[in-house]
Amino acid sequence: MTDTIVNRSARFEGQGRISFAEAPMGHLREGWVRLRVDVCALCGSDKRLLESGSDVVPGHEVVGTIVESRSDEHPEGGRVVVYIPVSCGECKACRANQNNRCYRLEGLMGWQFDGGFADYMDVPRQCVLPVPDDIPADVAVLALDTFGTAAHALRLGALTQPEGIQALLVVGCGPLGLGVVAVALAMGIPEVHAWDPIESRLALAERLGATRAEDLESINRYQVVAEVSGAKPARDLAQNLVEPGGAILALGESNEPYTMPATPRWRRTDCFTVRSFYFPISEVPQNWDLLRSHGALLRDTIMSATALSDLPDTFQRFLDGEYVKPYITSEESS
Ligand SMILES: [Zn+2]
Ligand SMILES: [Zn+2]
Repeated sequence: MTDTIVNRSARFEGQGRISFAEAPMGHLREGWVRLRVDVCALCGSDKRLLESGSDVVPGHEVVGTIVESRSDEHPEGGRVVVYIPVSCGECKACRANQNNRCYRLEGLMGWQFDGGFADYMDVPRQCVLPVPDDIPADVAVLALDTFGTAAHALRLGALTQPEGIQALLVVGCGPLGLGVVAVALAMGIPEVHAWDPIESRLALAERLGATRAEDLESINRYQVVAEVSGAKPARDLAQNLVEPGGAILALGESNEPYTMPATPRWRRTDCFTVRSFYFPISEVPQNWDLLRSHGALLRDTIMSATALSDLPDTFQRFLDGEYVKPYITSEESS
């Protein structure tokens, strides 16, 4: 047991306002662990909570060190990442280690349960994934929304392609799009092209090893198109560029409906549209290997370290596009 911890945490009050609270933490629940937050990355989806406000502490891309445990399989001192779906552990999907598909999801860490924009957070055991010793915290955090989500989408997409994915276009080079580029290269996909209307973002994709897409006019140009923007022009582009028999990976998050065009050409396009959510726990061991080959390169290309107390300023710079993938990091862990 630790002495009573006074936890500092961020509150999103809505309309872009962030405040901080300090309060003693209560007793740790049975089956939960208490983490010191070593790294918590900002995510594009947090911008929605920044605008709407949140009843819980946001922050869902977390690496931490266990300071107290009430879960036998997770000893104190262990370094872990936080898997965000709080799954039931009993349904058909959970029994197959596909907790991202849980039929009775209780919620998500950082969305319905307190997350990591804090010095400490409590996490239920089904959301605790140990980090291999050789992977530093600022690379391990990429195992979650960045590499984890990207790798799962590519694996799901590959199931539709008997010859595997040979040619990929990534539309949208934000943090997740750049994650798709890095994972595709780590997986050995031979042709990885990228496109973004913002030149500096496209340059980051090139720095990772992608080829700038030169031809966005010819229809049916790409076997697989990962649409990672959510904007209508990007979705239209993906629907134009996908080959017959190919697949669109619909990864972009947006508040707008995802529509299929009511045109003769689209009706006559024989292809897959693949929607994925996060990643199953069963894929995590393979994802550590992908991170070992391309994680440090992605970190060095997109990440910026900041402090919890600077969160309002960090979010502003994130919104302005100055930061691609900022994260907060604690004094102790750096
Ligand atoms: Zn996220
Ligand atoms: Zn379940």
